[in-house]
Amino acid sequence: MIRAYKFLLRPTVRQEQAFTEMLRDHCSLYNGALQERRDAWRHVSKATVKYGQQSAQLKEIRAFDPERQGRWSFSSQQATLRRLDKAFQAFFRRVKAGDKPGYPRFRGVNWFDTVDFPKDGDGCRWDSTPHHPVTRVRFQGVGHVRVNQHRAVVGHVKTVSVKREGRKWFVVVTAERDRPEPLPATGSVVGIDLGIANFLADSNGDFVPSPRHGRRAAAKLEAAQQALSRFPRRKAKDRTKNHQRAVAKVAQLHGKVRRQRLDHAHKTALGLVRAHDFIAHEDLKIRNMSTAPAPKPDPDRPGAFLPNGAAAKAGLNKSINDAGWGVFLTILHAKAESAGREVIAVDPRNTSRTCPQCGHTAKENRPTQEKFQCVACGHHAHADTVGATNVLRAGLVRRDANPA
Ligand SMILES: [Zn+2]
Repeated sequence: MIRAYKFLLRPTVRQEQAFTEMLRDHCSLYNGALQERRDAWRHVSKATVKYGQQSAQLKEIRAFDPERQGRWSFSSQQATLRRLDKAFQAFFRRVKAGDKPGYPRFRGVNWFDTVDFPKDGDGCRWDSTPHHPVTRVRFQGVGHVRVNQHRAVVGHVKTVSVKREGRKWFVVVTAERDRPEPLPATGSVVGIDLGIANFLADSNGDFVPSPRHGRRAAAKLEAAQQALSRFPRRKAKDRTKNHQRAVAKVAQLHGKVRRQRLDHAHKTALGLVRAHDFIAHEDLKIRNMSTAPAPKPDPDRPGAFLPNGAAAKAGLNKSINDAGWGVFLTILHAKAESAGREVIAVDPRNTSRTCPQCGHTAKENRPTQEKFQCVACGHHAHADTVGATNVLRAGLVRRDANPA
């Protein structure tokens, strides 16, 4: 199964310049090769030049013009020649069919906007460490270019292309994924509730505790970020030794938190996918919208907000947790898909205050963070177990409403 992904590139000024030159030089290669074919067709009584003959000249062309042609990837130049070949094959097909042929045209440099790299690792390198915050892609003659990778690339990267659209640059990668290997059915369904004290609670009354080391690392990270925030913002080259150390510390702890979180997420997701055919979880996007802390307006300055230390701290904790849950759910969905399991996200509203026994919904059902006690029927349980049970119920309703 092959799938294409398109991401915005964030080239530096110098890289953008190099991309522009890369397009320009591939464009002139394309036009040069087209000229050769035109001349042969017109002057040598409809002789045709083949892709193989043009490709065989590439070595000389590169040696002859090292500044403009020798600089770029051989394979990407072959891809450009192949593109011309395709245009000609289509032309000959039309001639044969007796259609109006439309001879392949020269391209203006502004109309030549794509360079293909037929194989990752040949003239380009897609470098995405899973869940690393910054993905880069390296191109021969350009360097490592930052990628706005908004979604994971699943599988093995096969081809990479650079594309100009208006003033923006994009990378298109295609990746091939193995066919999913379904796990045997277990007949089990489960709902999960993601939390802080416990990483998750499930509808069977089981809990996966938060990783202790993860919490410790998160606390250290928070301290390191506070230490870093005392330095004035400066460009990297203007930072003092202590400032540099503080930056390095934050980066190192970030890496540690990320690795631990990933490891924990993989193990937890694998356990769920092995044990259950169907998994329902809360939709984090909806949950975040409904629990965003309300900012306090400043009465003296209309439109401004009071600084709120507690809210800022809660914000940091929350963002650390959110990132952890987000990574976990991404992994869970990927593992479930390759195992042939079904995962559904449900609207989390009221899942923590509805009684799973009698359906009574009230804030008073939840006297404390951990306790659920229904004021109507007296049913009591751990609040997170109740949440997970309601999530499962909502998930099953959704599944039965839209059977796959
Ligand atoms: Zn009840």
